[in-house]
Amino acid sequence: MKDKDYFKQFDIRFASFAFGCRQIDVEVNDLFFEKYINEDIQACNVRIHLTVERKETMVSLEFDMHGTVITFCDRCLEKLTMPISKQEILILKTTGKPKESDNENIVYLGDKEYSYNIEQIIYEYIVTLIPIRKVHTETGDEICNPEMLKLIEQAKGTPQPKYDERWDVLKKLKLE
Ligand SMILES: [Zn+2]
Repeated sequence: MKDKDYFKQFDIRFASFAFGCRQIDVEVNDLFFEKYINEDIQACNVRIHLTVERKETMVSLEFDMHGTVITFCDRCLEKLTMPISKQEILILKTTGKPKESDNENIVYLGDKEYSYNIEQIIYEYIVTLIPIRKVHTETGDEICNPEMLKLIEQAKGTPQPKYDERWDVLKKLKLE
């Protein structure tokens, strides 16, 4: 599949939909993260079952996401497979004028819009599912690589050869 064709699925051309519900399946894989690069995401395979409901004045998008993201363990630095499962709802208001929204679940599009691209919102949904601390034994069935842990411990034990002058700069900053 060409990149261009792949990304077409994220354009929700709601104005051509009949009123009522329709189901759309979207696949978020490595092609997606070649465009939306994130250092925490090594690989991704998430299926999104999307329920789009078109009404007179709004379109609701229900995201049902399941799959896996491969990231890196903070402790042993090896690959870590994280299962992902999450539901989200986004409301597109399609009457009136486009304006800023103070609710992250609502987007004001205005009545001239006929489609909405969900790439950015999907990126945010997936990235916010990755915890700040990602560790094998605490997040899944996999365990840390003992060889790597040993090497990291050894590296920690090695005395620093040179005094790091950046500490002086930091100390000065604190005093000011
Ligand atoms: Zn680990």
